[in-house]
Amino acid sequence: MDERQLRELELLAVAKLYGYSVNGERLKVDAVEVEQPATSPIHLPPSTVSSMDWDALRSAVAACTACSLCRQRKQAVFGVGNESAQWLFIGEGPGADEDEQGEPFVGQAGRLLDGMMAAIGIRRGREAYIANVVKCRPPGNRTPTLEEAAACAPYLDRQIDLIGPKLIVALGKTAATRLLQTEASLASLRGQVHRYRGTPLVVTYHPAYLLRNLPDKAKAWEDLLFARRTLRKIEEGVA
Ligand code: URA
Ligand code: SF4
Repeated sequence: MDERQLRELELLAVAKLYGYSVNGERLKVDAVEVEQPATSPIHLPPSTVSSMDWDALRSAVAACTACSLCRQRKQAVFGVGNESAQWLFIGEGPGADEDEQGEPFVGQAGRLLDGMMAAIGIRRGREAYIANVVKCRPPGNRTPTLEEAAACAPYLDRQIDLIGPKLIVALGKTAATRLLQTEASLASLRGQVHRYRGTPLVVTYHPAYLLRNLPDKAKAWEDLLFARRTLRKIEEGVA
């Protein structure tokens, strides 16, 4: 495979990022294997992602083809906010508006999230960073599969490492399932301080769910107050 073919497949940036020579390799992209004379498959190694700086990570996500969600996205949606925020909110994945604009939570659910954060004195870009479990829009806004979430996890993990938040808020079942590796119901996970790779984590309902289930907004409000109390305790060194 030569440079021109790689460019057409939008793979050149990825191949270069990972330092692979473009000739004589067998490239494995999602389910499609491109036959080449030489034998070794390319696996995009999480160990490389785990040492990237912000710019390299952004480029890697923009060019990523590690799962089939890359096929129908307009663009990958990386994340937004203060890169050393104390608060990290993690949603599920981009919807149509996010896919169009390249920023998480910019549609109706995003307006609700901004309102929820404002209620406890948090603004996106100031006190918080906002990211998603998967960076590319699942077709028809379906829930991302566990495999897609796992494929995208090295990027989210690196974002968490670079930000170093004091508290993670998992928004909804997809984020809770991915980060806590449990199928337990969201209701049963609320009101507790969990940990994700050492960082304290609380769960609450996803804003899109709250738009459809208005009575649960009161519970989300309780969760945010619990989150704020938890962060204060962490700051005081008692949590
Ligand atoms: N829902 C999410 O989970 N994330 C977004 O970015 C938008 C809607
Ligand atoms: Fe890559 Fe994540 Fe997009 Fe899948 S969802 S193509 S793993 S960036």
